[in-house]
Amino acid sequence: MSIFKSLFKRKDIRVRFAPSPTGLFHIGSVRSTLFNFLFAKANGGKFILRIEDTDQERSKSEYEKDILESIKWLGLNWDEFYRQSERMKLYADYIKKILLNGSAFYCFHSKEFLKKEYDEQIKTKKNPSHYCEFRKLPISDATRRLNKESGIIRFKTPPDFEISFIDLIRGKINFNSDTLGGDFSLAKAESPIKFIPLYNFAVVIDDYEMKISHVIRGEEHISNTPKQILIQRELNLPTPEYAHLPLILAPDRSKLSKRHGAASVMEYRKMGYLPEALINFLALLGWNPDTDREIFSLNELIKKFDLNKIQKSGAIFNTEKLDWLNSYYIKNMAIDELTKKIIPFLEKEGLLSENNFEYIKKVIALEKPRLKKLSEIGKRSAYFFKIPEYRSELLIWRDMLFKDVATSLKVSLETISLINETDFNRENLEKILLKEAERAKNKDRGRLLWPLRIALTGLEKSPGPFEILEILGKKESLRRVESAIKKLA
Ligand code: GLU
Repeated sequence: MSIFKSLFKRKDIRVRFAPSPTGLFHIGSVRSTLFNFLFAKANGGKFILRIEDTDQERSKSEYEKDILESIKWLGLNWDEFYRQSERMKLYADYIKKILLNGSAFYCFHSKEFLKKEYDEQIKTKKNPSHYCEFRKLPISDATRRLNKESGIIRFKTPPDFEISFIDLIRGKINFNSDTLGGDFSLAKAESPIKFIPLYNFAVVIDDYEMKISHVIRGEEHISNTPKQILIQRELNLPTPEYAHLPLILAPDRSKLSKRHGAASVMEYRKMGYLPEALINFLALLGWNPDTDREIFSLNELIKKFDLNKIQKSGAIFNTEKLDWLNSYYIKNMAIDELTKKIIPFLEKEGLLSENNFEYIKKVIALEKPRLKKLSEIGKRSAYFFKIPEYRSELLIWRDMLFKDVATSLKVSLETISLINETDFNRENLEKILLKEAERAKNKDRGRLLWPLRIALTGLEKSPGPFEILEILGKKESLRRVESAIKKLA
């Protein structure tokens, strides 16, 4: 029995987020990024971004770009940046070291051989593992062989060996080395001098070289930790602290995936979510701030963040809660800032022929209390930017006839034309038009206000007519009412 206690009792907190650029930056990764960032900032430490791109086939520069852009957009800026593909010499030095001290060896088994071995083990209900016969091959023989064929460098996994570590979220975790799949791979050897490190090896080297004090990462990496600890031990490197974050689950408690509508960060951006809302939302997923409060800015999160308060069990992704937070941040954003953020969404829908900031601002101020996502703006407010199209039947309120509607619209037209441009504001319009509306049959205000509102918006649902009149202005409002009357003729 052997317990590897953490050898890091350093004060300098250094954490890393280490994505592989093999896909778009997914919403689940934001939480790992965020928790690393918060932990670093809460402890006056450093947050490191490390791109793990040693897998040349699967790594793509456009994915790296997406990761960087997403993290920047979220405002989780890193203090140091590394790319594994630029550190190959370093890994090669450590590979030589681990080969020379006899803890690793070259394996030349073919994929077919390994597959056959695996299939047989499954058939006979054994734990799949590869304890490799090439362990015994002298390095000089292996080196000669590497001139003709490539090999895999494997770790000599000790049999029936206990490995334990303290996970800061889960407590003590034990592994028996027999469950690690045998002599696991460390690197590919393409020639006697060309090595390509694989995940577990490169991570150990970098976590050491970058002086990482705490490894905070997703729960899917728990089973890699004993392998990494074995490598550290053979290379005489200290073991950092580990904290494995719980999975994010879909409402049906399965692992959150695209199937549940979860998307990349940039897609959330396109959908009109604000980074503040996403951060607030993801911070509360799996973390309990010990209060009923739900709104936290990034700075408040930094102050409150505590690794010990992260739950062990999976956290459920609840889109309604995200929408609620998003609408909260929209409501509370300064109008100029919100307008600037929304303009691209209006542009995308081809609604802005001229960029009249003050006018757009008024529209946004009107819609702000109701918006859940910035992308809803086009659908909700297109009528402010183009003449609405609608069927004339929509102008009809309850049992009114076309001719009643025409009369009602003419009353609105006259009333509106009597109001001076300088008095053309919501309060005045409301006062004057309501007075007029009260005179309708059965005091039914809808007989005046419904046709008027439809004439202005073409929409069954919209904000009230007075606010809309004020924003459209007298001239445009009259034009729309006139055209509704024509429609009825
Ligand atoms: N590169 C790994 C991944 O994208 C993460 C490595 C780690 O955090 O140890 O899953």
